[in-house]
Amino acid sequence: MSDTILELNNLEVHFNTFDGRAKVINGVDLKVEEGETVAIVGESGCGKSVTAETIMHMLPQPPGEIIDGELYYHDTELLGDESAHRRVKNESFGMIFQDPMTSLSPVFTVGEMMRDVITYRNKTNVGWFDILKNMLGRNTVSDEEIREECVELLDQLQIPDPEGILNRYPVELSGGMRQRVLIAMALLGDPEFLIADEPTTALDVTVQDQILDLLTEQIEREDLSMLYITHNLGVARRIADRIYVMYAGEIAEFGTCEDILDEPLHPYSRGLVDSVPKLTEFDRKGIDGLIPDYTDPPSGCRFHPRCPAAIVGECDVNPPPRFELADGHEVACHLYEDGLSRTEANEIATKEAKEERDSEGIPLSSTTNGESNQTTDQMVKGTEGSDE
Ligand code: SF4
Repeated sequence: MSDTILELNNLEVHFNTFDGRAKVINGVDLKVEEGETVAIVGESGCGKSVTAETIMHMLPQPPGEIIDGELYYHDTELLGDESAHRRVKNESFGMIFQDPMTSLSPVFTVGEMMRDVITYRNKTNVGWFDILKNMLGRNTVSDEEIREECVELLDQLQIPDPEGILNRYPVELSGGMRQRVLIAMALLGDPEFLIADEPTTALDVTVQDQILDLLTEQIEREDLSMLYITHNLGVARRIADRIYVMYAGEIAEFGTCEDILDEPLHPYSRGLVDSVPKLTEFDRKGIDGLIPDYTDPPSGCRFHPRCPAAIVGECDVNPPPRFELADGHEVACHLYEDGLSRTEANEIATKEAKEERDSEGIPLSSTTNGESNQTTDQMVKGTEGSDE
């Protein structure tokens, strides 16, 4: 890995809704290095797509409003400079959307849509004059060159009969083919940085596997960097170098795929990993409850109402600071405040341990009978002692 290509600092996004002001993104930081694929994982509604839309300059404003934050692409700050953001978006970003049926036009053929992407690529402002020139066939790139480029790319994406596909409408293609066309259209703009928003969610597992293979090939061939949004941890492991776990508009934890999926530190990350259905057994682990109401988010740690290790008087009051437990592996959780190890945290941050504590009436608490300053470590030992 080399230089940082994209850096987001302290992003805060609110939405004005009929129910009040929804504080959806709350201080999100993330970094993507050149040539790296970073995945953001989390439940539906946790703010992954809003983060991607903000980076891509596609956040609907209103009702959305960027309250705070900085977004650097190389050294250029984008959130404070709309024209720079537009220019970078058109020249360097590519977006692969989730649902091809709503992203592709039903009234144009694949060839017509791809032709438009090539005609207008790298243009920040497309005016009526450009559209008129295009309609009259007065383009700088000839139709023959456009056709060759499209066929070559569709061929790379293993679309059978690429020449024939150019004359077909999206409705005539299968889900997998439509998704390949969307990837092709994102790549036609010659992006340096790709954002993929759950591009394989609607596909069956075999097609999903093929699409991930093709995407990985293209990323390597073109030396691209990518931000990949998904709620599927298997997909994240397959495609990403690093993972950011997001919960209720905040980053709970980040690290390499191995850090997050093999040795998760945050109770939410652990719950996500435990929620993945196993083929060989049925054990109802996972996380109870739902994402909070953003118009009235929980105080302190936003995960505390669902957390099996929530410390009364601490987690419901103070937002957790971030701790670096290994190089590049950081977690935002009060459990690690007193130097608790991952193994020790594991012992208390499970549903079973919580059920046991609840049955014995021993809540995790930063105060006991009015005596404050009991450390988490002491509480763990106290819990262990009670088991004996
Ligand atoms: Fe949040 Fe506290 Fe649970 Fe950590 S232990 S995830 S800070 S509620």
